[in-house]
Amino acid sequence: MNSEHRIIIAGGGTAGWMTAALTAHRFKHFPVSITLVESSQIATIGVGEGSTPSLKQFFTELGISDETWMPECSATYKVGIQFCDWSPASGVPQYRHPFISQLDTFSQRPFEVNCQTRRLGLDVTTLPDKFLFNGYLAKAQCLPVTPPNFPFRMEYGYHFDSARLGQFLKKHAQSLGVQHVDAKIAGVDTHPDGSLSSLIDTNSNHYNGDLFIDCTGFRSLLLQQTLNVPFTSFADNLFNNKAMVLATEPTSPLPVETKATALSNGWAWQIPLQTRTGNGYVYSDAYQSQDSAEQEFRRYLGVSDAAQIEHLSMQVGQVEQHWVKNCVALGLSQGFIEPLEATALHLVYQSARLLCEQYQKSGFNAQQSGTYNQQVSTQFDNVRDYIVAHYKLNTRNDTAYWQHNRNNGKLSDSLMQILDTWYRGEDLAAHLTKKAHLTHFNSISWHCLLAGYGTFPALATQQPGQGDLFKEHQLQQFFEGCLLNFKA
Ligand SMILES: Cc1cc2nc3c(=O)[nH]c(=O)nc-3n(C[C@H](O)[C@H](O)[C@H](O)COP(=O)(O)OP(=O)(O)OC[C@H]3O[C@@H](n4cnc5c(N)ncnc54)[C@H](O)[C@@H]3O)c2cc1C
Repeated sequence: MNSEHRIIIAGGGTAGWMTAALTAHRFKHFPVSITLVESSQIATIGVGEGSTPSLKQFFTELGISDETWMPECSATYKVGIQFCDWSPASGVPQYRHPFISQLDTFSQRPFEVNCQTRRLGLDVTTLPDKFLFNGYLAKAQCLPVTPPNFPFRMEYGYHFDSARLGQFLKKHAQSLGVQHVDAKIAGVDTHPDGSLSSLIDTNSNHYNGDLFIDCTGFRSLLLQQTLNVPFTSFADNLFNNKAMVLATEPTSPLPVETKATALSNGWAWQIPLQTRTGNGYVYSDAYQSQDSAEQEFRRYLGVSDAAQIEHLSMQVGQVEQHWVKNCVALGLSQGFIEPLEATALHLVYQSARLLCEQYQKSGFNAQQSGTYNQQVSTQFDNVRDYIVAHYKLNTRNDTAYWQHNRNNGKLSDSLMQILDTWYRGEDLAAHLTKKAHLTHFNSISWHCLLAGYGTFPALATQQPGQGDLFKEHQLQQFFEGCLLNFKA
């Protein structure tokens, strides 16, 4: 074993440079060298413009302020997602899934209790935006920046230009000592035990390492192609496998949320950046041809045939093991759960953090993979459950796509238990706490989704006209008072 631990990162998309910056930061006091090998001849995926609050944690950990990175990446603030037309039959045309802030500790329990009361048929307030402060910011298009003297910490994510984010992170990682090599990887050498020993480029240069991180995107050159780790597809309950993208003019004033609108065979995103609006349509080609999807997308955006639309394929699923021998996959090479809720970079950061912890804890032994694999797979599975629920609970009747999604019985046990708890009128918050869900989507998120879709029984004929904690706790007045501290 060398005294210096050599980490080789293959691939320089957002996942590669995030990982390079994080490992360089975390291991700065250790004898660790980091080299990132990528080919400028092989394009990055070039999409991925929205984040969860994880990206804020990532930049905070690196000590990089919003003022430093946001202008360089055309970034804007994101306080949540607005969902339109996913559940028209419930009478709720749109709802919001706001990110949870410290302020929401006052309203979490009233929200959960009201949802339970409504499940008994009583007419109480359940619209998520009314209970969560970021919902008020979204409506008023106010920035989530915590004002001086405001005693609560705000949570938010961002919208950003992914290519520029990659460039920013590259510069930062290089300033921390990461070596960058522009070369096409043509082969991989292995040790007799099957672990990786070096990457070989097209000029026969060898890049020797102790730990190899595969960030080569959907190709997964090291983990899937070299070590033959199988990929588990999620296609049985996540049907979308295609996407198309088109940028349009920026809007003014700038919204502080992503909009996700259900269309005939998938959904479209609208992401406001400083310099453009990012648009995309995610759909399933088993239900809609590319031509038909493109026409629908153009109509939805109101753009002519001259506008150049870019088409992409997506592999939705995850690898059976994320860390095998001395190779770990991060980013699209480890898996992808379609862009609804924008969780890809969240999973990259969570995986990379855990990798650093495990690698360091085991004395920089690249073979310590057990805990890591179990925890990362669970995070993927839990995100998957939350995304699948968006399709399962839809109440659209316009196409076979939506009907098949609604009637699809291929659900995980954990998702069935969550839905069962809800439909039986039991305490979902208690159920989720008991299951200790290792996930970004906590009880509030699940209540937003289920209440936002109007997943409730018909109202009872007898209504006592009381018991609405939203009114009793005067939450509207409380949040509107707080809102006065924030600027558009
Ligand atoms: C339609 C769509 C929408 C998305 N929206 C979001 C979103 O809103 N939010 C979010 O968080 N994520 C989103 N994602 C996911 C996001 O795009 C990716 O997670 C993110 O860009 C990271 O990609 P990556 O770095 O893993 O792969 P890539 O960007 O594909 O990078 C792969 C890298 O590997 C290199 N490479 C490959 N082969 C070789 C070789 N032989 N030699 C040398 N180098 C090589 C390439 O040069 C490149 O640098 C979306 C994805 C899709 C498909």
